[in-house]
Amino acid sequence: MTRGNIKKLLIANRGEIAVRIIRAARDLGIATVQVHSDADTESRAVRLADEAVNIGPPAAAKSYLNVPAILKAARDTGADAVHPGYGFLAENADFADAVAAAGLVFVGPSGDTIRLMGDKAAARAEAKKANVPTVPGSDGIIEDMDAAALLADEIGFPVMIKAAAGGGGRGIRIANDAAEFRTLAPQASSEAKAAFGDGGIYIEKVIERARHIEVQVLGDGGDAVHFFERECSLQRRRQKVWEEAPSIALKDSVREQLCTAAVALTKAVRYKGAGTIEFLYDDESGAFYFIEMNTRIQVEHPVTEMICGVDLVADMISIAGGEKLKVDQSQISRSGHAIEVRLNAEDPANNFMPFPGVVGEMLAPDGPGVRFDHMLYPGYAVPPFYDSLLGKLIVWAEDRDKALMRLGRALDELKIEGLPTTAPLFQALLESDDIRTSTVHTRWLEPWLAENLDLIRQKGGSVT
Ligand code: ADP
Ligand code: ADP
Ligand code: MG
Repeated sequence: MTRGNIKKLLIANRGEIAVRIIRAARDLGIATVQVHSDADTESRAVRLADEAVNIGPPAAAKSYLNVPAILKAARDTGADAVHPGYGFLAENADFADAVAAAGLVFVGPSGDTIRLMGDKAAARAEAKKANVPTVPGSDGIIEDMDAAALLADEIGFPVMIKAAAGGGGRGIRIANDAAEFRTLAPQASSEAKAAFGDGGIYIEKVIERARHIEVQVLGDGGDAVHFFERECSLQRRRQKVWEEAPSIALKDSVREQLCTAAVALTKAVRYKGAGTIEFLYDDESGAFYFIEMNTRIQVEHPVTEMICGVDLVADMISIAGGEKLKVDQSQISRSGHAIEVRLNAEDPANNFMPFPGVVGEMLAPDGPGVRFDHMLYPGYAVPPFYDSLLGKLIVWAEDRDKALMRLGRALDELKIEGLPTTAPLFQALLESDDIRTSTVHTRWLEPWLAENLDLIRQKGGSVT
């Protein structure tokens, strides 16, 4: 792919994803502008970018979410496009519109597409229209609590109460019976209103012991393709901590159905850019259910890049720049197995307490099949104001067993002094038989953590 008509890209994000986007831009011959808060003047992304512009104080509301300041930085530097990364403004339809109204290219789908698919209740309706199976639940937003309580009873408890505007594992409640539902539903709505500015809630049946399996898609506004699936069942508080591709739970016939459904939905909404269609998969019945679409690049995109040999971030920039897809589905293939683990500045032996601090000595793993996408350097002070993700360690090998061996090797090489990270958690997980065989589901990790605290400590948790 080429850069299309983009010459200078402003990165409206920070951390490891900002570094990732700068690299993709460079590879395409595009100049970069990194906006940053007062807390990020020394960030790796600021050091790597061609230009940097301070857009405000540390609080995200005053900097990374400050739309006028971001647009002014674009104007002042002559940037012609904006990449939102993930989190922050990435799924904010009004931001996408504001970028376009300022005469700039938004690297992602249109504001209207974000509005349609970013609202999780609206996206369910689109999925149904495209004949993609959804989790049994309400049709759209709950307007009437009495009707919703009846429906919940009909679906069968437990049910999930979800915020239509939720994300990042937030805005989800489980009701085990009708009484709980009556208390939790109004609470969930007012909490969603406070957290996301939108009190819309909907309900879904709880799919027990499900796997989280998602499909990477890429569309150019007309045509669309998939890059197979990612298995993201290892979660804590509904946030992914370990992702892999492919999912060894899928037979080829099911994989084909899942990926075809994802492409059908992508085409149905004339999607433009990189996106992810998330599903729950029930091992026992072989059924899958759409849960949501993320209209942006995802944290775990590298595992797909490793098995498909593609650069998804470059591709989404090219498409935003006006290019059409250059491959059809038959030209996309995968090989081997990739695993990603999320390195956070958190202490896994101490209830994952966030632990910002100064990086001391560090040794980054490398060698065959190892990729480390991160924001660190020795002496870097991790600011306390943002998400604790420091980076992702990704390994690739010919098969899953070899990838697990390689992950162990890479984690052994990794040394980060000065602050705790989640690395000991992954070393401990590598000793689990269920991990070896991938006999997991989305509720597997939390009880395992409670039972294996000593093992995590032994691997170095709480030691800095
Ligand atoms: P978010 O927008 O926060 O990512 P999702 O709807 O994608 O929310 O759900 C996040 C996680 O919550 C899923 O990966 C899964 O672990 C769990 N989950 C969501 N919906 C259901 C459901 N209906 N049944 C069981 N688990 C669910
Ligand atoms: P992915 O599906 O790419 O793994 P997540 O749902 O884990 O994405 O979110 C990616 C990151 O984006 C999170 O680490 C968090 O920083 C941020 N994020 C996403 N949604 C929200 C949200 N609603 N509120 C706050 N942060 C969010
Ligand atoms: Mg999700």
